[in-house]
Amino acid sequence: MKQVSFLRAAALPSLIWLVIVAVLSWFVPVWVGLALVIAFLVWQLSNHYRELHHFALWLTHPTSKNVPSGHGVWTDIFAKLYAMRRMDEKHEAQLAEWLERFQNTMRHLPDGVVLMDKSSHLEWCNPVAEQHFEFSLARDRGHRMLNLVREPKLIEYIRAAQYDAPMKMSYLSRQLEVTLIEFEEESVILVSRDITETERVDAMRRDFIANASHELRTPLTVISGFLEYAQDPDAMANTPVEEQQRQMKLMHRQAEHMTILVSDMLMLSRLESEMRVEDVDIDMPRLLEQQLIAAQALSNGQHEFMADVVQVKLRGSHQEIDSVITNLLSNAVRYTPAGGVISLKWSVTQEGAVLSVSDTGVGIAPEHLPRLTERFYRVNKDQSRASKGTGLGLAIVKHVLIRHQAELKIHSNVGEGSTFIVQFPKERLLK
Ligand code: ADP
Repeated sequence: MKQVSFLRAAALPSLIWLVIVAVLSWFVPVWVGLALVIAFLVWQLSNHYRELHHFALWLTHPTSKNVPSGHGVWTDIFAKLYAMRRMDEKHEAQLAEWLERFQNTMRHLPDGVVLMDKSSHLEWCNPVAEQHFEFSLARDRGHRMLNLVREPKLIEYIRAAQYDAPMKMSYLSRQLEVTLIEFEEESVILVSRDITETERVDAMRRDFIANASHELRTPLTVISGFLEYAQDPDAMANTPVEEQQRQMKLMHRQAEHMTILVSDMLMLSRLESEMRVEDVDIDMPRLLEQQLIAAQALSNGQHEFMADVVQVKLRGSHQEIDSVITNLLSNAVRYTPAGGVISLKWSVTQEGAVLSVSDTGVGIAPEHLPRLTERFYRVNKDQSRASKGTGLGLAIVKHVLIRHQAELKIHSNVGEGSTFIVQFPKERLLK
């Protein structure tokens, strides 16, 4: 097939021309015939030279679009070149598309990916890795990672080439977990994951368990101490009945404190794990009235109470909002010395509704304000314990308010008093 096309395309026309020249030279003198043959050969040579020139020109920019058409044998050669180039271009386009998709995928990964050679020269990285290590692919491609990163622990890790053994470290105000993966013969992939938030949550959980154990241990120690004493018949026989009753009361108080503590912890854990708020129509004026009576009972006549309540209902979880009001009012009572004033206000504003609880109590220094809603955070531990505080009240308030899209603001001056303001959004109001 190839030979037929070669004959048809090149050899045959040349042969016909040669026969014509040979026949012509039969009728003319020898030198004229020779001249004709030489002229024919020169013409053929120049044709080939011209096609070679086109070929050389094409090689400088070899795309399928500008393959020369060619004459004679060159037609076939250029046609084959065209077909080969078309095939290559198709493969190149597929490869470019695949590479583009791969890089796009890498760009959307939540983790940083750095591709480097075994001598740590940066070949490619995704934008997350650029953020993690603060280098720029455009500027730093080809540079050694060992010179680009500043953390000695990371430099040592890359040098040691500990493949598939993740390492945690602090890097530029982030906590990162990095893993080196060997890739092909000469390449290495470095994967970096931002674990700042996970580490923070882990630390919080550890703190919480430590604090909770500590809080529970104190009353338990008191109770078990008394029980141990009560097991000794001689000691009990020598203890007056009034003293025994006093000890019983103390144990009871400690057990009560543990019950409150456990119920606060359960409430917090429920608030964190349940996403949905069971919305109902809350009759706020009625709820506030009930809460005010409970606060007055807690105050035992030691404080003056004032209330200013509008007739507006709220959409939300009854139990959760109830616990917000209980916590704010009981704090006001517990941290306000006798003779102080406690004011409760429920009003409507342009943004929504505002619940505010003010007292003329001990007040809070500004440095404590941002930390008040942390679990077990207390300005004065003894004062909190003495008034049966668990240190979880405001943490519960914060979580309930987040679930109701509400905001808590605290204004306070030491020795003058505090105001806790809760701003509910318009969408939660029922008139
Ligand atoms: P606690 O059970 O200790 O009262 P909370 O979470 O309710 O825990 O409050 C955290 C801390 O905030 C309290 O220990 C107290 O120091 C401070 N605090 C809360 N409310 C008031 C208030 N009305 N006046 C002064 N200090 C307050």
